[in-house]
Amino acid sequence: GLPDSSLFLPQMERTFIAIKPDGVQRGLVIDRPNKFIASCSLLRKILKPSGYNNQISEIISRFERKGFKLVGIKIMVPSKGFTQKHYHDLKEKPFFNGLCNFLSSGPVVAMVWEGEGVIRYGRKLIGATDPQKSEPGTIRGDLAVVVGRNIIHGSDGPESAKDEISMWFKPEELVSYTNNADKWIYGQN
Ligand code: UDP
Ligand code: MG
Repeated sequence: GLPDSSLFLPQMERTFIAIKPDGVQRGLVIDRPNKFIASCSLLRKILKPSGYNNQISEIISRFERKGFKLVGIKIMVPSKGFTQKHYHDLKEKPFFNGLCNFLSSGPVVAMVWEGEGVIRYGRKLIGATDPQKSEPGTIRGDLAVVVGRNIIHGSDGPESAKDEISMWFKPEELVSYTNNADKWIYGQN
């Protein structure tokens, strides 16, 4: 197996990123919907982006090309209660109920990404909450149009990253590893 980098390196910052149901559905190959929902074959497709689902691979590749490392991924349909917990900070907002209904309406691709500054820079890759205000070049700026269908979630700070990662993933679902590119991305002493 791969060496466990956590034995040698201080643990890198991690953030929680999720592709919402709209982001998942918009990449659908529409003549094979049932196959798409079958999570085993889908997960293989996610991990080997091949154009089968363009939106998922598009989003993953933006984090990957930057130099961030994928340390956890799964597809699931969260329950309404789970999404209410995920968005508990927003429970007073008028859009809270619709938001939670939507997030629990279909498959979500939940991920943990690791790297120096990944929480803050992940938000930059994602763009502003309202896609109308997101810069071109950002995920929401390039791929979404309205705030209620902005296709992706990212933790907004160290606290929420920690809480969201532990909500969505068990510790054993996250993998610490080194890859050959690390020394070229970060340099070495
Ligand atoms: N949202 C919405 N209407 C609004 C503001 C937010 O539907 O006026 C949704 C939108 O999908 C957003 C989510 O609620 O992504 C969470 O809002 P937050 O302010 O945390 O934005 P984010 O952190 O996702 O950029
Ligand atoms: Mg937020």
